[in-house]
Amino acid sequence: MSAQSGSRSGLVTATLEPVAGVFPRRKNLAEAAPDPAAVDVRHVQPYEATKTYRCPGCDHEINPGTGHEVVVPHRAPENRRHWHSACWRRITRS
Ligand SMILES: [Zn+2]
Repeated sequence: MSAQSGSRSGLVTATLEPVAGVFPRRKNLAEAAPDPAAVDVRHVQPYEATKTYRCPGCDHEINPGTGHEVVVPHRAPENRRHWHSACWRRITRS
């Protein structure tokens, strides 16, 4: 629409929004990307991270000793997920 619309066409991540269903090619990722208003987010300090987790945002591992975010859905606390801080910021910032 605007004159700048073409400048970000090569950056896929710039178009991602934290809305379920916007990732048609990655069903699991769509399910993993929650509404930020429906979750609690807790920052995990590096010294608290003692296990390896898989980040739903990039499908890579979060190694022990890495500060990251725990995202807990209000309605399903048992479905909490661990995200890289950068990945969580990427999907929650539009
Ligand atoms: Zn990640």
